[in-house]
Amino acid sequence: GSQQVDRKVDSVCPFCGVGCLITYNVKDEKIVSVDGRDGPANHGRLCVKGRFGFDYAHHPQRLTVPLIRKPGVPKDFSDAPRPGDWQDAFREASWEEALAFAAGKLKDLRDTHGNKALAGFGSAKGSNEEAYLFQKLVRTGFRSNNVDHCTRLCHASSVAALLEGVGSGAVSNQVNDVEHAELIFVIGSNPTANHPVAATWMKNAAKRGAKIVLADPRITDIGRHAWRTLQFKADTDVAMLNALIHVVIEEGLVDEAFVRDRASNFEALRENVKGYSPEAMAPICGIPAETLREVARAFATAKGAMVLWGMGISQHVHGTDNARCLIALVTVTGQIGKPGSGLHPLRGQNNVQGASDAGLIPMMFPNYQRVDEPGAHAWFENFWGVPLDEKPGYTVVEIMHKALAPDDDPHKIRGMYIMGENPAMSDPDLNHARHALGSLEHLVVQDIFMTETAWLADVVLPASAWPEKTGTVSNTDRMVQLGKRALNPPGDAKPDLWIVQQIAQRMGLPWNYEGEECGVAAVYDEMRQAMHAAISGISWERLQRESSVTYPCLSEEDPGQPTVFIDTFPTADGRVKLVPADIIPADERPDAQYPFVLITGRQLEHWHTGSMTRRATVLDALEPMATASMNQGDLDALGLQAGDVITIRSRRGEVAIHVRRDDGTPAGAVFVPFAYYEAAANLMTNAALDPMGKIPEFKYCAVQVLPG
Ligand code: SF4
Repeated sequence: GSQQVDRKVDSVCPFCGVGCLITYNVKDEKIVSVDGRDGPANHGRLCVKGRFGFDYAHHPQRLTVPLIRKPGVPKDFSDAPRPGDWQDAFREASWEEALAFAAGKLKDLRDTHGNKALAGFGSAKGSNEEAYLFQKLVRTGFRSNNVDHCTRLCHASSVAALLEGVGSGAVSNQVNDVEHAELIFVIGSNPTANHPVAATWMKNAAKRGAKIVLADPRITDIGRHAWRTLQFKADTDVAMLNALIHVVIEEGLVDEAFVRDRASNFEALRENVKGYSPEAMAPICGIPAETLREVARAFATAKGAMVLWGMGISQHVHGTDNARCLIALVTVTGQIGKPGSGLHPLRGQNNVQGASDAGLIPMMFPNYQRVDEPGAHAWFENFWGVPLDEKPGYTVVEIMHKALAPDDDPHKIRGMYIMGENPAMSDPDLNHARHALGSLEHLVVQDIFMTETAWLADVVLPASAWPEKTGTVSNTDRMVQLGKRALNPPGDAKPDLWIVQQIAQRMGLPWNYEGEECGVAAVYDEMRQAMHAAISGISWERLQRESSVTYPCLSEEDPGQPTVFIDTFPTADGRVKLVPADIIPADERPDAQYPFVLITGRQLEHWHTGSMTRRATVLDALEPMATASMNQGDLDALGLQAGDVITIRSRRGEVAIHVRRDDGTPAGAVFVPFAYYEAAANLMTNAALDPMGKIPEFKYCAVQVLPG
């Protein structure tokens, strides 16, 4: 940041949910560097993505003109070009033509086939204002609740359990609060790679004496700082967690007063965990009984014990049960509702918390008001001035199934509008998902690159990258944070907020958000009203001054509440509802034919489907190539060496990929990041869903591993 720049613009890192505040240094209309700002989540720190992942915005493959598919070009990957190479499949169009075509056909499908014929995916990469407006477009313009986004693939099960158990899907305590914890229980998470700056706060806490317990089938970097590592067998979370709860109850470590005054259904929990002694569970989860007892005692007796978890907990057919066990663990030990304790599902995307808060989910209006709850339904009908569907909509994976429904299914989905998501890379069982997307009668994709999803579109609308717009995002800590526009979009690309409004107007909605930056302040104010109390103290003006404000925040004077549930829980009776969980095995277990377990996930240098970070020069140079990880024993057994190419094959698809040695990967498993289009991990994953959260089982399916 020492070079001469034309301007410095304050924003927020566009990658992970930690929400580091940044400054873009702009020279000659290009970002030349990024500095960390002194934000409440990062105190000046940045990880490699935040520091170096910016020049994707200037990449020559940016979409700069609306595109319409040429007639007769098949919507599949049989002739897939390299990304960015779209000239054979699409022609350029004016905005007027593209918008008329995009919205006109959506309207036709709705009018011909009814309100269930359309669906929309918004994005956790966009702002709160974009998320709010997009879900409003679907509910009031498409006239159904078929709107969702990648939260479904991320923490949907955690949120389902949290709403049921504690009455709120957001974190109880902020990451920084590990400073006040005596024990930090990290489970199903690789924070050094996926929440890097947050991981530094955990490591600092360990240095001053806090005990980190890492519980994960993969031992990752944070394990080097751990007091105990519980490398449990993949898929045995419920067995292990119930064993910990068993110990707390059996050894008289229950916080009796807390359970008496603030929990319900304890007897059912106690009954249920009777069968889960550590001695009985040790052979199942692979952790010695004495270690389980030791960890349970330390957790229960710590002055503060805090649980942080990631996709390793949530992405299972029993993801909701996993999270229920974590809720039960903190409740029986009284480790919630005070500093240095509580429940923290680490949010992945920079705005997955905010997009969900803003109502970008099929079963809830903004701020988790259920679409089928008569009071909320009436309030929003009045607020938006249109009749609304009373039925929850379909979720991400269900929408893909409905796109392939028979023609006489009244809920068959025929047209979609996808803003800033890439399900042709991020959905499970990609051959199925891509076939579904390619089968739509009309697909409108709005994005900054020719993504794998855009490749299947009828019309592609060139959108704005994050540094090209002003808006708010909400991080994993419930901080609403403001990013300001540093650049203009390239060529004829437009801000997403403008595009959504243009589509809405062409579908007959009388929208009129006036003001700078496509009316972003007016949209924010409307969203703030729709969310009732939650962010009522966070005005647009306050955000200009403070950059970051934590919610719940009830008035302009309220500094925001970093720790919640201190006196009560926002459930019907004010208590935690304990929900017992039993073992439900993974949908697809290894067998003689498919003997390995595939675990998918992320890595430090690349973000999700790779469309941004693989076009960032430094990040691409650091990790240019798709790589799978296996431990030395498995490499030896297969006669492989690190660097060899292997084929990984499931019942649904296969990839060829280089293999890397990583002894933290458990025996019998292979880990594959999902960022690489040329070796797309999700070709192999299983679309089986958790029945509550409707999240697919990305963390476990059966594969073969073959040399070459
Ligand atoms: Fe960005 Fe997350 Fe890295 Fe912070 S930790 S710089 S928010 S990717």
